[in-house]
Amino acid sequence: MKKYDYLIVGAGLFGSVFAHEAVKCGKTCLVIDKRDHIGGNIYTEEIEGIQVHKYGAHIFHTSNKTVWDYVNQFAEFNHFVNSPIAVYKDELYNLPFNMNTFHQLWGVRTPAEAEARIREQISRMHITNPKNLEEQALALVGQDVYEKLIEGYTRKQWGRECRELPAFIIKRLPLRYTYDNNYFKDPYQGIPKGGYTEIIRKLLEGTQVVLKTDFFANKEELCAQAEKVVFTGMLDEFYDYCYGPLDYRSLRFETEVLDMANYQGNAVVNYTDYEVPYTRIIEHKHFEFGTQPKTVITREYSAEWTKGAEPYYPVNDPANNELYAKYERRALEEKNVIFGGRLGMYRYMDMDRVIEEALNLAETELVYCNENE
Ligand SMILES: Cc1cc2nc3c(=O)[nH]c(=O)nc-3n(C[C@H](O)[C@H](O)[C@H](O)COP(=O)(O)OP(=O)(O)OC[C@H]3O[C@@H](n4cnc5c(N)ncnc54)[C@H](O)[C@@H]3O)c2cc1C
Repeated sequence: MKKYDYLIVGAGLFGSVFAHEAVKCGKTCLVIDKRDHIGGNIYTEEIEGIQVHKYGAHIFHTSNKTVWDYVNQFAEFNHFVNSPIAVYKDELYNLPFNMNTFHQLWGVRTPAEAEARIREQISRMHITNPKNLEEQALALVGQDVYEKLIEGYTRKQWGRECRELPAFIIKRLPLRYTYDNNYFKDPYQGIPKGGYTEIIRKLLEGTQVVLKTDFFANKEELCAQAEKVVFTGMLDEFYDYCYGPLDYRSLRFETEVLDMANYQGNAVVNYTDYEVPYTRIIEHKHFEFGTQPKTVITREYSAEWTKGAEPYYPVNDPANNELYAKYERRALEEKNVIFGGRLGMYRYMDMDRVIEEALNLAETELVYCNENE
């Protein structure tokens, strides 16, 4: 008999939801994380009475009622609606691209005027078979929206000229012909009162958690303690990069406490011109309608990923997907290791999707586990 049923590597959302479900089923879990806190990338920390999103702005939104009900067991959500602002040089625009944006760009007032303007700009481009991201975007939205709101931002995000980026990165660029600044279309949206870390803390109640512990530093000893491993770290690292490293984009955050009540009047402001080095500024208190005397802002910079840096976004281009498929084939042969979460599955997933995946795993894995006892 081993000490634990499951060793869960990663105290992020995936690992914590799985641990919660396992404990509910009477299983014993050991959760480890190499960081000095729980929560993974949704970790929030209180500074000046404000919940600061330490790894970038996180807005919960979903169309999945089951997931919404699930997460509401662990927090009360406020009525925050994500309505970002874009700054291009000295101009301000509403996002996502909607009638407010079109009015700010061209002074148009009706959907028909806006559609005509965009159609005319697209047809002027004569692009039938887009060969790169720039052509793809121009063919979808025309010159003005592309030049002011897409080009510089995308260039900063990927660290490359849009002409050098593949067209498939942008599949669609939704244009909304209504005066609607709500970024997401999901019926459920909000920010958990008290921060995301509190959700994770509740999920992990009854579970043994050990922080500042890297799985790879003590793999054999850790594995010997549990019947099975749920691994939410990097899949390629698990196999010692035997087929080569998968590619990621990284981010760098600069957080500052300011001695003023309100810096930018909105939670998320994107900087879409290339000359401004950061992609956006987050003012955390606006996620919670905060009225504190001070404010906390974070500048977000896109960065190249190199081994050892934080891998934020998987780069799901054909070459990396092919490489991932090799690792995945090997992973599927494992009897006692299950891979999950954004790094284990090498896939960008919003929080609702991560919860859904973890609940799916719990359903199959824990039923199977109980049947075989
Ligand atoms: C900048 C940014 C903004 C985002 N905004 C949103 C948003 O607005 N809305 C939304 O729904 N989603 C958003 N997301 C997605 C969200 O962050 C993810 O869905 C979620 O954090 C994934 O949880 P996870 O458990 O899979 O991974 P993680 O949170 O990464 O957790 C994995 C954990 O495993 C640990 N770990 C890794 N390797 C090891 C090891 N070897 N040993 C021990 N521990 C290890 C890590 O330290 C980490 O804590 C955003 C993501 C990013 C990058």
